[in-house]
Amino acid sequence: MSAQVLDGKAVSAAIRAEVANEVADWVSSGGAQPTLAAVLVGDDPASQVYVRNKERACEKVGIASRLLRRDANTTTEELLELLAKLNDDTAVNGILVQLPLPDGIDTQRVLDAVAPTKDVDAFAPENVGLLVQGRPRFLPCTPHGVMRMLHHYGLDFAGKHFVVVGRSDIVGKPLANMALQRDLGFGPSFANATVTVCHSRSENLPEITRTADVLIAAVGRPQMITAEMIKPGAVVVDVGINRIESGLVGDVDYASAAEVASAITPVPGGVGPLTIAMLLKNTLMACKLQNT
Ligand code: NDP
Repeated sequence: MSAQVLDGKAVSAAIRAEVANEVADWVSSGGAQPTLAAVLVGDDPASQVYVRNKERACEKVGIASRLLRRDANTTTEELLELLAKLNDDTAVNGILVQLPLPDGIDTQRVLDAVAPTKDVDAFAPENVGLLVQGRPRFLPCTPHGVMRMLHHYGLDFAGKHFVVVGRSDIVGKPLANMALQRDLGFGPSFANATVTVCHSRSENLPEITRTADVLIAAVGRPQMITAEMIKPGAVVVDVGINRIESGLVGDVDYASAAEVASAITPVPGGVGPLTIAMLLKNTLMACKLQNT
């Protein structure tokens, strides 16, 4: 079997075009231009690239962006003051704090200081709680991107076994929560999964992953999911981004997995491009929420 390749770039382009149209409609009907503020602390090269990409993506869809750069010696208290100002600034609709923050900064306190209505990453406890209760304000960007990808290709998972490997607050847990919902807003076929979440302490991981109809890898270990761990015909979504000598690879051993799966996301070009697209969507949504 040779799997269908799920093209994240194409899906992302479609979502960005949708957002650009919505922004144009909103602004032409008198709405304020949506604005995203990005807080970048220190000089981590990868973070700088991510933030630059986010700025460019905003510009292309008509969203204004502000970059607040602080050096690596910035204290937690200084960041809390900065966030308080951004929270109070009515011209700022969405706030993102680029992770990781340098050592010595209390990341949790900083993230908790973002106003929930401007929390376009959907990390705030209030937003996590709303998602768990099935009435989300914002959907977290990477998991939302995964769901949109499955929806775009008509790969429904209602009633199917959805196995998520990884339980981070950014990817694994919210993804599991989303798949579990009764209604995620994409129609009944794109929710209502039977969900299993695995992590580093899970026993017999390959036995569990082999029961997955939809297998999501969000681990951060290069090519750890091999063909033997995949049920023939499963849909495989690789969230992992790992830099190895030969370049970027995912958590899935793509070449062998593509022989077994019915559909698979590549790395790069799979889930990655969707994350930014969903951030744009959330920023527009935040702007509308704050202004209607
Ligand atoms: P974390 O490091 O926060 O979480 C990794 C998870 O994997 C943990 O729950 C950990 O378990 C689990 N894990 C580690 N080793 C194993 C193992 N051997 N078997 C089973 N589970 C294991 O990572 P993130 O969730 O933030 O990111 C995961 C990957 O996704 C990374 O490669 C990251 O770069 C990528 N990523 C990609 C994004 C995109 O836009 N495409 C966005 C965000 C992340 P435990 O909890 O027990 O430690």
